[in-house]
Amino acid sequence: MMRDENCIFCRIIGGEIPSNTIYEDDDYKVILDNGPATKGHALILPKEHYRNFYDIPEELATGALKLAKKLMVRMTDVLKADGFHILQNNNEAADQSVFHYHMHLVPRYRGDQGLLSYKPLPVTKEELAALKEELTER
Ligand SMILES: [Zn+2]
Repeated sequence: MMRDENCIFCRIIGGEIPSNTIYEDDDYKVILDNGPATKGHALILPKEHYRNFYDIPEELATGALKLAKKLMVRMTDVLKADGFHILQNNNEAADQSVFHYHMHLVPRYRGDQGLLSYKPLPVTKEELAALKEELTER
């Protein structure tokens, strides 16, 4: 099992640091975030240490997404949430702060503080067309 001694999530998975676990199987542990954005904010942690989505094997990433769906349905029901974020940050520039792959499960409630507001960037039709060219796989 891949593990990094200096990684806080590896230490939580190993049981050295206590956590509020809401789900666990052979490959994943799901814990409540200690600094929740909303009530019920949880994190899916693969038990093996991978830095982020760039590094994680596809099967483990797929499994995390399947688990996210299952938990989203259950959490929405139990918490009476009105919506839900599945959120996953990669690298510092994208607000990743713990470098062990994790997926945020964030229940949303009407009138809560929100967490993803941004001002749309100004963009021209030409810029969008150029980007489309650059990003379309041939
Ligand atoms: Zn780790």
